[in-house]
Amino acid sequence: CGVFGVYNHADAPQLIYYGLHALQHRGQESAGIVTSNNEFFTYHRGMGLVTEAFGSKQLNKLQGFNGIGHVRYSTSGESSLQNAQPLVFKYRGGELAIATNGNLVNAVQIRHQLERQGSIFQTTSDTEVIAHLIARSMYEEIEEAVKEALGVIKGAYALLIMTNDKLIVALDPNGLRPLALGKLEEGYVISSETAAFDVIGATYLRDIEPGEFLVLEKGDLRAERFTVRTRRATCSFEYIYFARPDSDINGINVHLARKRLGKRLAEEHPVEADVVTGVPDSSISAAIGFAERAGIPYELGLVKNRYIGRTFIQPSQELREKGVRMKLSVVRKVVEGKRVVMIDDSIVRGTTSGRIVRMLREAGAVEVHVRISSPPVKNACYYGIDTSSREELIAANKSIEEIREYIGADSLEFLSIEGMIEAIGRISKDTTGGHCLACFNSEYPTEVFQKAFFGKK
Ligand code: 5GP
Ligand code: SF4
Ligand code: MG
Repeated sequence: CGVFGVYNHADAPQLIYYGLHALQHRGQESAGIVTSNNEFFTYHRGMGLVTEAFGSKQLNKLQGFNGIGHVRYSTSGESSLQNAQPLVFKYRGGELAIATNGNLVNAVQIRHQLERQGSIFQTTSDTEVIAHLIARSMYEEIEEAVKEALGVIKGAYALLIMTNDKLIVALDPNGLRPLALGKLEEGYVISSETAAFDVIGATYLRDIEPGEFLVLEKGDLRAERFTVRTRRATCSFEYIYFARPDSDINGINVHLARKRLGKRLAEEHPVEADVVTGVPDSSISAAIGFAERAGIPYELGLVKNRYIGRTFIQPSQELREKGVRMKLSVVRKVVEGKRVVMIDDSIVRGTTSGRIVRMLREAGAVEVHVRISSPPVKNACYYGIDTSSREELIAANKSIEEIREYIGADSLEFLSIEGMIEAIGRISKDTTGGHCLACFNSEYPTEVFQKAFFGKK
C-alpha cells in the first residue's frame, strides 16, 4: 500500500490526490482521502485506481488544510470498499482517521481478544485493530492512547493518524516500510516514497526513523519516539521490486540500487551471450547494470502494455493458448537468432519467468539465460509485500536446477544474499546491513505468529 499525508497546506486535498497518484504502483485496489479543516472531516473512498475512485466532483467536496490518503493492495483482509482506507471513526466527541502501509503479525490475536471483550469490527482490515486499541485506551491524550496501541501491535506499519486538529505519524520499530518527511511552503508532507515529493514540488527533509513518532499540531512538528527498542530492517524488496526507481529510501536511490544489483549479478554469474534484456518495468535498471558490467549490449527485448486496468477482460484459456498475450510482447528483431540474457528482479511462483522464456524462444532466441537480481524467495512475507504462502513459492520447494528445468531456461542463476546487501548498500552496522531479508533467509525481524494471515491470500 501507499500512504500520503499533508499538514497545514491550503491545497491539501489536491496535493494528496497527486501524491496518491504518484504512489499508484503501491496499490490499485482502492483509494481514499480524508481531510480536516480543524473542525470536521470530509472524505471519499472508492475502488480501483486513484483516477477511478476520484472524479473532480469527489475531489472538490474535500476541504481542509490537513489530510491523509491511502492506496490499497490487500495482503490481509479482502478487497472491498469496506476495507478501503483511510478508515474513519467517531472518537471522543471528534473524529479519527487511520491509514497504514504494512501488515501486523498479531492482528488476528488482538482482534480475537477484543472480540471476546465485546468489540464489534466493521472491516477485516488489521488497521481497524489499531483504531479499537486507541479507542479503548484510558489515556485522555490521543498521543498517549496511540503510543499505548503501538506497544501492543507487532509487525510492519507506516502509520498516519489524523484527528480534527492533529496529524500523528509513526513507523514500526524495524522501519520495515519506507516513510519520508517533506516540506511544502508552511506545511509538511509525509509519503511512502520520495518520488511523490518531486511530483508536488515538495522538498525532501528526511526519512522517518524506526520507532519514531511525529506529532503535527498548531502549525508545528514535534518529533518523539514511542520506543527505543529498535533495529532497522527495511524491506529489501522495496529496492528490488516494489518502489519507484525515482524514489530514494534511506538516502539510497532505487534505480541506482537496482543497477548495482544487476552489476553484482553479472560479477557473480557471468555468461556468454549477445544481448541482455530486462522484464519491464522493475527489471530494466538491473538489466542495464548487468549489461554494463558484462560488456554485452542492453536491448529492449520485451515491451509492456501499460493499459491493462482492473476491469480489462482477460482472454480465456483457449485464446491464451492461441497466443493472445496482452501484458508483455517480445521485440522479435532484437532476439531472433541471438543468445539472450533475460534479467528479472525476482522469482516468486515461477510463472512469469517460464512464460517469458517460452516467448523469447518462440521469437527465435537460440539460447535463453535467466539471471535474477535477488536471492531465491523461500519464505512467506508477513509484512505486507507478497501474499504468496510458502507452498506457492517455487524456491521453497525446488532446487535451482529444478526451477531452471521448470521455466525452460538454458541456465538460471540468482544473486547471493551477501551480494544483494552490498549492492543495495548498508544502512546499519548489523550483519543484515539494516535490511529485512526474511523471505530469503527466514530471519524475521519480529516474532511471527501462526495464522498471521486471514482473508485473502
Ligand atoms: P512469479 O511469476 O515468479 O510468481 O512472479 C515474479 C514476477 O512478479 C517478477 O517479475 C516481479 O517483478 C513480479 N511481481 C509482482 N508482484 C510481486 C510481489 O508482490 N513480489 C515480488 N517479489 N514480485 C512481484
Ligand atoms: Fe520485504 Fe521479504 Fe522482509 Fe517481506 S519478508 S518485508 S518482502 S524483505
Ligand atoms: Mg517483473
